[in-house]
Amino acid sequence: MKDTAVLKNFLSDSRKIVITTHANPDADALGSSLGLFHFLKSLGHEVHVIVPNSYPDFLEWMAGNDTVTIYEEDRVKSDELLDAADLLFCLDFSGFNRIKLMKEKAESIQAKIGLIDHHLNPEIKPDFNFWNDTAAATAELVYDLILDFSGADAITVDITESLYAGIMTDTGSFKHSSTSSKIHRTVAELIDLGADVTIVSGLIYDTNSVDRLRFLGHALAEKLRVIENARVAYFVIDEGDFENFRLKQGDTEGLVNYALSIKGIVVAAIIIQKENEIKLSFRSIDDFAVNKFAEEYFGGGGHKNASGGMSELSLSETEEKFKTLIDQNILKTKPE
Ligand code: 5GP
Ligand code: MN
Repeated sequence: MKDTAVLKNFLSDSRKIVITTHANPDADALGSSLGLFHFLKSLGHEVHVIVPNSYPDFLEWMAGNDTVTIYEEDRVKSDELLDAADLLFCLDFSGFNRIKLMKEKAESIQAKIGLIDHHLNPEIKPDFNFWNDTAAATAELVYDLILDFSGADAITVDITESLYAGIMTDTGSFKHSSTSSKIHRTVAELIDLGADVTIVSGLIYDTNSVDRLRFLGHALAEKLRVIENARVAYFVIDEGDFENFRLKQGDTEGLVNYALSIKGIVVAAIIIQKENEIKLSFRSIDDFAVNKFAEEYFGGGGHKNASGGMSELSLSETEEKFKTLIDQNILKTKPE
């Protein structure tokens, strides 16, 4: 779905634009938002990025980071910007429940809505639609949009690096099934336009604290549970772990992949106790659709092989619920 011509027409006047993305922004959420931010500013519009809550330190290198408004921390300014906006761009999510506290405001404002996203079953009905669930990352869709609009000359080095970060992380460093030849061609073009892949991957992946590494060791030794019969492995992380290892936002990211890397495992999960709720992340290989599982039982969603959701039960009740449901839903055949 691409509404390039109608959007071009709308943007032929100078506009006030807000770009937002899902809560707990990841590299694709922030990278695609800042990539679009720089491009729309270069066209002469007034542009602001507002994210629902804060994001990990390892994303702060992205150009434009210092202009980002965090809704949870600056509600008055954010509401003013949203009230004044002609256009609200929703990036890397497609249901307003994913922007948490911002939901009510976003649903009530007059601004037209633009949607740039690659998640299944979009709920938002946009005025300008750039939704495509075959895209590997929202950053890929932003890249295509800029090319269609203005050609490669509009893609600055800053834009290439934030888009590259989004694509690299959303494809699991070019390993997930979304890794098409097209995405490799897109990345090749980003490199030709100036993205330094060594620097970007170092900024994203090689920023471990000693505490985080020690936590990783602890989680692998003490927190990993394996249900071999069902070919499922998962971690349960509680508030004590956050305290003992002084964990920061983002420090549990990627942990779930260790569970999925076990030979024979087809579904992996991580259940994390946060201040007011329990967050679950699911990963799978092959046919088990974890987005449907997350949607049906944990009020969430995502992609077929990577999804997430929430629980309002206690940590141990959530674990029991997960175990029971996975037992009922998974096909218990051993691989040949
Ligand atoms: P992660 O596990 O890395 O937080 O998320 C994996 C995928 O699932 C991402 O595409 C993310 O957008 C989606 N996802 C994670 N949590 C939720 C949720 O609570 N609701 C929905 N609809 N999608 C989620
Ligand atoms: Mn994404």
